[in-house]
Amino acid sequence: MKYTISIFLETSKEDKLKFVALQDAYHRACNQIIPSVVEERCWNRVALHHLVYKEIRKNSPLGSQMVCNAIFSVCKAYKAKTIGRNEPVPVIQFRKNRSVHFDKRTYSIKGNILSLYTLEGRIRIPMRMGSFQEKYFSEGMPAEAELICRKGKWYFNLVLDLPDPPKTENTKMIGIDLGENVLAAVSTGKMYGGGKIRHERNQYLAKRQRLQSNGTQSSKQLLKKISGKEARRIKHINHQVSKEIVKEALEQEAGILILEDLTHIRTRIKAGKKIRSRLHRWAFRELQTMIHYKAESRGLQIIYVNPAYSSQECSHCGCLGVRERHHFKCLCGNQQHSDLNASRNLCRFAQSIDRATCDVNRM
Ligand SMILES: [Zn+2]
Repeated sequence: MKYTISIFLETSKEDKLKFVALQDAYHRACNQIIPSVVEERCWNRVALHHLVYKEIRKNSPLGSQMVCNAIFSVCKAYKAKTIGRNEPVPVIQFRKNRSVHFDKRTYSIKGNILSLYTLEGRIRIPMRMGSFQEKYFSEGMPAEAELICRKGKWYFNLVLDLPDPPKTENTKMIGIDLGENVLAAVSTGKMYGGGKIRHERNQYLAKRQRLQSNGTQSSKQLLKKISGKEARRIKHINHQVSKEIVKEALEQEAGILILEDLTHIRTRIKAGKKIRSRLHRWAFRELQTMIHYKAESRGLQIIYVNPAYSSQECSHCGCLGVRERHHFKCLCGNQQHSDLNASRNLCRFAQSIDRATCDVNRM
């Protein structure tokens, strides 16, 4: 399991100047690599190394290993994009606030002292860690890292390789439906993020729609401002909700979480109104990712199932039922909240994949 901790660095004035000089040279090197990437359509690390290494090494004050790191950063930035076969390769600009990549050859740690490569040789900087960070740090193996500046303060974002948590023996399944009415419905009967949160989200969306259709310069600026605020708020909510869901799973002694596979959601618009807007899709994906990581770190297993028809079918008998607003009704007598019915269907779908080892919890 990989885990990243963001360590505060106690930098002196001179340290900061050295970091700025390094960052500047690093980004210039990255920007010098870009034309070759665009021309040769190449963002494979080894191939790109052969293409550009000698040239960059000659023109840059960076040491040999740092040039390799710059090549790594460029490849990583391009891998994060999806570029079609016939599309031109976009030009990425490495601007001031991007991070500098460090691998194990360009940093080392002794006690709480970090030794870092700079243009003027290695410098040693005290690290300040909180108790949580110290716990992870003592259990994990340091891997690669990013040096980054936020609001004038410098941080070392260190990736740790942690031992995988012991897998639970429990085979009980819990389905999680990311809903339209509530943020998430869990097949145990619990629902999260309804009421006030739902209202808040809808208000954001309405405001956003108004501004988008307006199209003036000032509304665009306002939109940008709201988006940032909104993203932070949604992130906070997603953190709370995912924490609650994993807590519920552990309390119910579940071993397996069933989530909706949203991979092809863009092409499967019929899956529901709820994920139609880009913002919605993004918020749902973020919530899922958080549930996934939090559950995995507690030894739970995660299964993704195709959610098609999860809101139309009855979770008891599998027939098509009738939905009236938040209420689901079936001829077999089953009636319940439509989001809960959907979450229980996810368990039913997963069970049909692997009947032998799993039990489904039903009302
Ligand atoms: Zn039924």
